[in-house]
Amino acid sequence: MFDRLSSLIVALTLLAIAAIFAALADGEALTIAIMALAGILALAVVHSARSAPLPAPRRDAAQPTDDAPPPPLLRHPGFLRWADQEKEPLLGTAEDRVIFANDAAVRLLGRHIVGTDIRMAIRHPAAAQDRARSGEEAPETISLADFPRPGQRWTMRAAALSGSERLIRLSDQSAIDAADRMRSDFVANASHELRTPLAAILGYVETLQEMDGPEMDGGDGDPTRRRFLSIIEREARRMQQLVIDLLSISRVEADRFRRPTTPVDLCAIVQATVAQLQGSGHPRAADIVPRLGSEAQPMIGDAAQLAQLAHNIIFNAMKYGRAGTPVTVELHRRGGRVRLSVSDEGDGIRPEHLPRLTERFYRVDEARSRSVGGTGLGLAIVKHISERHQGELTIESEVGKGTRVSVTFPLADRVPLDADQGMIDME
Ligand code: ADP
Repeated sequence: MFDRLSSLIVALTLLAIAAIFAALADGEALTIAIMALAGILALAVVHSARSAPLPAPRRDAAQPTDDAPPPPLLRHPGFLRWADQEKEPLLGTAEDRVIFANDAAVRLLGRHIVGTDIRMAIRHPAAAQDRARSGEEAPETISLADFPRPGQRWTMRAAALSGSERLIRLSDQSAIDAADRMRSDFVANASHELRTPLAAILGYVETLQEMDGPEMDGGDGDPTRRRFLSIIEREARRMQQLVIDLLSISRVEADRFRRPTTPVDLCAIVQATVAQLQGSGHPRAADIVPRLGSEAQPMIGDAAQLAQLAHNIIFNAMKYGRAGTPVTVELHRRGGRVRLSVSDEGDGIRPEHLPRLTERFYRVDEARSRSVGGTGLGLAIVKHISERHQGELTIESEVGKGTRVSVTFPLADRVPLDADQGMIDME
């Protein structure tokens, strides 16, 4: 109602009036009552007083007003100071032209990059495929293998800002890759070292089995000895397969960021793999039904790795499909892509397992995998080979019916080899 000063004045006035009435009043009790009532009223007035309103804050002349928009991020002095202290190279572009480079970017790429086109500043074919330029929402991380020097690898991530402006961050992955390489080199070396003693064990087991004579004919040795020898042989062969798969996966991992460069024909590779499996003497060899067509399927790839990919998925269909049912191997060309798919008729895989099948050593049924000679690495190898060839792996399965594993690769006449060269022509 009143502010503090006014309420004080009102209270004092009340007390003064009360004092006059008290002086005029007849009798002590009445005087006390008048003064007490006045005192209570004065206190109530003072208590209910509002504090004085604060003065309105003064607008700092230096502060930007609401109508003046702040400078764009890439020209904001605060941002530029912060960016220069960042350890990772940062580049700002407008219309794909570098308008800003922090100190780390200048050290990596040189001062001359400011003002040039970003594709000239980051001279790498993968940088030209940057999707953020085309205005897509989620910025993807692009891997720049052998950048800026052979053996090194950086990643690039771009964020679209307002208008045509973009902020690009480069990040050095060379140390992480070196640690990764040490790990896979160790696995490769250990596997390699295991091969020699394993070959010796298998050699001696076979010699001892031959000395005992063939099992079917009764042989000379005792049955327990023959049984033990056959267990040693089976386990040693399993270990040998594991060693081969471990070596393969570490080789494929080591090549992960090295794009293949050789033109190959996927149709011929799959044909050769099918022929090898058909002649392998495996009980399911006769169930393979190839539908590959006669057309060449040109792509850029590593022939040995593509053969291994085809082998692993066809062999899985042979291992996990029902005996006597077809294992269909197909090649389909659609647009600029070719799809290799292998279908089997078997127990199928429950949907909750599908996303984990390409993890190393993941098996739906470990006992079953072991009994058919599986190592749990086959699909992990397939995934790595597929990624290296820009392939797309899909696994579809229906419980009780069967499974189809497909890998779709870009055909060579659509594979961009170099940003300047555009597409290569295989014809
Ligand atoms: P493994 O050496 O055990 O076969 P993989 O990595 O090739 O290992 O496959 C992982 C698991 O996926 C297998 O153990 C099996 O449970 C399942 N799997 C793979 N292919 C098929 C298939 N065609 N049908 C049913 N299950 C499959």
